[in-house]
Amino acid sequence: MDLEIKREVLARIEREYSFKPKRSADGAVWMRGGVCPTCGKKEMYTHQEHPWVLRCGRIAKCGAEIHVKELYSDLFENWGNRFKKTPEAPNAAADAYLRTARGFDIEKIAGWYSQENYFDHEKKIDALALIVPLDAEQIDYVQGEIICMTVERQMAINADHPLVQEFWDIFDYIEGDDPDMPVLNHSRNETEIAINLNHLVQVATDRRQQLPDINVLKKLLRTSRFRKFIDVKPVNSAIHAIYNTQRSVNVPAKPSTVKCWVFKRN
Ligand SMILES: [Zn+2]
Repeated sequence: MDLEIKREVLARIEREYSFKPKRSADGAVWMRGGVCPTCGKKEMYTHQEHPWVLRCGRIAKCGAEIHVKELYSDLFENWGNRFKKTPEAPNAAADAYLRTARGFDIEKIAGWYSQENYFDHEKKIDALALIVPLDAEQIDYVQGEIICMTVERQMAINADHPLVQEFWDIFDYIEGDDPDMPVLNHSRNETEIAINLNHLVQVATDRRQQLPDINVLKKLLRTSRFRKFIDVKPVNSAIHAIYNTQRSVNVPAKPSTVKCWVFKRN
């Protein structure tokens, strides 16, 4: 958590006291030129790595010293205390944590978590604190980690690579064309989807659907989570079976098995 607090401290002192980062000859970065609230001169400085005390450079004439922990005491309190839950903002603390400390775009992940779920852990952490001595900051840290792990897991599930999402959009669009017959799905298994990529490319081209580059897709489809990738294997084709029963006698039959990319139906 130190890192996040530090980032917020640096942002605040830049904003409120006009500190600017400056690199010194030895390579260390200092925050300099802050307006001293005591003497009004732009002489305040602090180390960028440890911005815990703001000092006025006019040691003899002013010597002001500000302790960040007192100046921004809110940053050092527990997130749950800082952001009280209200009916309008039931996830106030979780929202604040994810936005401020982790830089998530709250709008995009709205509904993926609720404070109850994650602040429930507070009880377990409190219990842990009885065994292992944890200070408020450490407890806060553990809570934050739990929220983040949960949100990151959710993101992994929801967020397939954009090209994989595009692939499934096109698949659903084409497959939805005929409610009674499979168009692209060769599988006879209700729990799976089997797609022959050459067939898909051909059908997509016929229907003027712009597919992502097929070689790129071949790499990315294995990571598909929305419909979990199972294997590339020969599949006894439902589509070819229908075709073969309906074809005219003088039209050649299609092979009964087709090499397919198989996914778990969600
Ligand atoms: Zn001063």
